[in-house]
Amino acid sequence: MEFIAVPSLSTLTPPPQAADETSRALPSLIGATRADLAEALTGIGVPTREIRMRIAQLWHWIYFRGATSFDDMGNVSKHLRAKLAEHFSLARPEVAAEQISADGTRKWLIRFAPRDGEAKGAEVECVYIPESDRGTLCVSSQVGCTLTCSFCHTGTQHLVRNLTTQEIIAQAVVARDRIGDFPGQTAPENGLLPAEGSRFISNIVFMGMGEPLYNFDHVRDAVAVLADGEGLSLSKRRITVSTAGVVPQIGPLGAEAGAMLAISLHAVRDELRDKLVPLNRKYPLKVLLDACKAYPGASNARRITFEYVMLKGINDTPAEARELVRLLKGIPAKINLIPFNPWPGAPYECSFGERIEKFSDIVFNAGYASPVRTPRGRDILAACGQLKSETEKLRARARLVTE
Ligand code: SAH
Repeated sequence: MEFIAVPSLSTLTPPPQAADETSRALPSLIGATRADLAEALTGIGVPTREIRMRIAQLWHWIYFRGATSFDDMGNVSKHLRAKLAEHFSLARPEVAAEQISADGTRKWLIRFAPRDGEAKGAEVECVYIPESDRGTLCVSSQVGCTLTCSFCHTGTQHLVRNLTTQEIIAQAVVARDRIGDFPGQTAPENGLLPAEGSRFISNIVFMGMGEPLYNFDHVRDAVAVLADGEGLSLSKRRITVSTAGVVPQIGPLGAEAGAMLAISLHAVRDELRDKLVPLNRKYPLKVLLDACKAYPGASNARRITFEYVMLKGINDTPAEARELVRLLKGIPAKINLIPFNPWPGAPYECSFGERIEKFSDIVFNAGYASPVRTPRGRDILAACGQLKSETEKLRARARLVTE
C-alpha cells in the first residue's frame, strides 16, 4: 500500500507573507476543526482570552450558516474580519463537474486545492441521494483505493493519497451549497424537499471512494465536526462508516468516533471472500465478525449494517443466505442487499430479481431487516462501486491513445 503522507493541520497557519506573494491563494478555513481555528486565530494575533468566543462565532458562520465571505459575519468586529480576510479565505474546493441523474441523485467531481508538491489538485467524487424520508450524502475518504475488490470500479483506480480532515468535511459544505441546504439558500429545481425544519442532507455515509479505516485519524476528526451540534449538526446515528474489514481499526472507530458501522461482507466463505475482497486474506471472516461482536455501542437500536452485493452465480444461493444468517447470530445486524452495479469491463453481472428476492426472504424470515438497496444514479455512474474520478478515466483514455 502506498500512501503519500498528508501534512497535517499546521498548514492553516499563514506563512509570513512577502509583498510579492500576496496573490497566492490564502488557506481556506472551510473544513477546519476547532483546533485548526484556534491555531489560525492565534497565528493572526487574536488574544488568548478571546479565542474561545471567536471560535464559536466562526464556527456558527462557517458550519451553521454556510458563510462565503468574512464580511457576512455581522457579530465579528470589523477589524478582525479584515484581518481574517487578509490571511484566510472561505473558498470551497472546486466542483469540476456536476451530473444530475433522472432520479435526482447528484454526483460531483470535487477538485481540491493542490497540496504541497502536487502539480494539480486531487479529485474525488461525492454523491447526494435524495429519498422521501432522508437525504444521504456519500463522501469519499481517499483519492482512489488500495483494496482492489474485484467487483468495485473504484478498486481499479490506484490510490493517490488520503484526504485530509478538512477535505472530508469540505465535501459536506460543498454539497450543502450545491443543493441550497444552508439557511436562506434556495432549493434545487428537481430535488426532493426535506421535511419541515430539517435539512436536505440528513445522513452521511463514508461509502464513496477509498477505505475510511485506512485514513482513520482524519475520518474520526471529520466525524466530530460533521456531528457538532453547533455546526453541521448531523446525528452520529446518521453517520455511517463503511469498511471492507480493517479489523484493528473497528474498535477504535466505535470508541473514538462513535459512528455507525457498516461492513462490506459480500461472501460467507473465506475462499470466496478472499477473491471478492482481497483484504479478507489478512482479516478473515471469523476475526472480522468477532470485531463486530465487540463493536462499542452496537445494540438493537444501533445495528451494524452488513452490505452484500448480489453477484449472479457467485454468492447468491439460498444456502448462502442461510449461512449468512448463521454467521451473524449474536450480532445486532441489518443486512443491506445491493444489486451489483455494472461498470465498463466488470467481470460480474447482477443476480436475477427472483434470486435477490429469495435471498432477501430467507434473511428477513430469520428476523433481520433486509432491504434491497434500490440502485440510484446508475445513469451517471454514481451508484455503489461505480465511482472513479474523471481524471483517472481521462488518463486511462490518454494511455489507450498513446499505447
Ligand atoms: N472501502 C469501504 C468503503 C466503500 S463503500 C468499503 O469497502 O466498505 C462502497 C460500497 O459499495 C461497499 O459496500 C462496496 O462493497 C459496494 N460496491 C462496490 N462496488 C459495487 C458494485 N459494482 N455494485 C454494488 N456495490 C458495490
